[in-house]
Amino acid sequence: PADQPEPDPSKKTLVILGTGWGSVSLLKKLDTENYNVVVVSPRNYFLFTPLLPSCTTGTIEHRSIMEPIRNFLRHKKAAVKYYEAEATKIDYEKKVVYINDDSEIKGDVSATEVPFDMLVVGVGAENATFGIPGVREHSLFLKEVGDAQRIRNRIMDCCETATFKDQHPDEVKRLLHMVVVGGGPTGVEFAGELQDFFNSDLKKWIPDIKANFHVTLVEALPNVLPMFSKTLIEYTEKTFQEETISIRTKTMVKNVTDRYIEAESTGPDGKKQIEKIPYGLLVWATGNALRPVVKDLLGQIPAQKDSRRGLAVNEYLVVKGTENVWAVGDCAVANYAPTAQVAAQEGAWLARMFNSMAKTHEFEQELAKLSDAQEKAPGKEARDQVFGEIKEVQKRLRRVKQMSPFEYTHNGSLAYIGSEKAVADVSWLTGNIATGGTATYFFWRSAYLSMCFSTRNRILVMMDWGKAKVFGRDVSRV
Ligand code: FAD
Ligand code: NAD
Repeated sequence: PADQPEPDPSKKTLVILGTGWGSVSLLKKLDTENYNVVVVSPRNYFLFTPLLPSCTTGTIEHRSIMEPIRNFLRHKKAAVKYYEAEATKIDYEKKVVYINDDSEIKGDVSATEVPFDMLVVGVGAENATFGIPGVREHSLFLKEVGDAQRIRNRIMDCCETATFKDQHPDEVKRLLHMVVVGGGPTGVEFAGELQDFFNSDLKKWIPDIKANFHVTLVEALPNVLPMFSKTLIEYTEKTFQEETISIRTKTMVKNVTDRYIEAESTGPDGKKQIEKIPYGLLVWATGNALRPVVKDLLGQIPAQKDSRRGLAVNEYLVVKGTENVWAVGDCAVANYAPTAQVAAQEGAWLARMFNSMAKTHEFEQELAKLSDAQEKAPGKEARDQVFGEIKEVQKRLRRVKQMSPFEYTHNGSLAYIGSEKAVADVSWLTGNIATGGTATYFFWRSAYLSMCFSTRNRILVMMDWGKAKVFGRDVSRV
């Protein structure tokens, strides 16, 4: 029953860390009645990250892409415990997770421990800064809801400050220079959304900024979107040019101050030069780094001594060197890109595995009972009947034990690039298709809409799109 208060001592305790793509996909498919399930995450909602860049400009309101974990868990068959806390340390030997309530309101107890029999680590990743000085202090990331809200406010603050009375023209230029570092999909999608915001709303509402508002995307490699095919990279770069977004490739940021970035660029002649690029808004999107709790766990397991990018897992998603710890998503390394698509498939596969592990246990217990009954059966006929039942259970047991290893199916890559255009590398029955343009944009919209967590999310997102189209995006700063 959903209100069962205490853990059942006859069941194993399965602790799941995180409420992101990996963990929530696992929870969605998990038969929770088989285990005492405990979820620990500082975030009491699931976030549909693919639409987060749209929240930075108000095309979509952030609550439309959030799903409260409580709402989702209450529909599970058996009760699941949820603790809003951060796992600060996993003690692998002691089979304990130390957790900490990091929120504003703390009770008498705000740090404690949670024992586990089985553990799934799905804590995702942090933002990479590569130790570049000034990044944490001066730039904004784009990973969580709070980040998107901060960016939305900063854009408006820059615009309002640029139009402040008697502002010097150089300062106006600096304040309206929006710099994005990192030409992966996060940086590209954000740059596209920001330029859209300017084109369809900002320049009408605040005409004074029209001449100086400018978006620049800085990328260390020779091109943006390295995971897409060459034609789509070229298409994106051409579209950005038309939208007047500057792309600075072969330019690596080395230092960040409160007013400018220092970047080393390589010219066509191979010569390197350092330049200072002033900015008003700086968004940093250079990929993933390890979370401290993961780094600490790596240090406890000798088999992980060479792991740098995350917890190395085997084809059953078991953390190498352990027996009862699994990892999914961005904190796991299994030769796949750190994407929502991978995390979701890993979570769903793990749920099926846990469900079949529970069934295996159930069948084994049934077999033990049956062989007992066979021994005690009076006469041949009764023994034969039990023997028949044993055969049947053994058959079912073999079937559940035949779980094939995890295999990722790539459904394609999609990214929004602004001005109602998107790029897609999708595999169809006919082979790979690389497409970009307005039709792809509608495909992008419908694909993401169908992937939203719930019908409620889907309706809210559609309403936001409609609202932004009819009334324009809201430019209030809160
Ligand atoms: P996350 O979804 O990041 O979840 C991690 C969870 O762990 C969170 O709930 C977090 O609160 C929790 N947590 C953190 N620390 C702790 C701790 N110490 N203890 C307990 N819990 C903790 N991928 C795609 O495939 N397609 C896209 O279009 C796409 N768009 C993206 C857009 C943006 C802006 C970003 C940032 C990412 C995008 N991604 C996309 C990548 C995708 O979001 C990630 O790969 C995915 O979120 C990874 O899932 P995860 O479960 O590993 O981690
Ligand atoms: P990323 O790792 O894909 O890209 C980061 C980029 O930053 C790289 O191209 C790198 O060369 C560049 N960079 C690093 N340091 C730099 C420096 N000092 N100066 C200039 N450039 C620098 O990161 P991301 O875009 O945040 O994506 C993270 C993950 O999430 C990826 O796996 C990505 O596929 C996934 N994602 C997917 C989508 C999508 O499918 N639409 C959207 C967002 C994110």
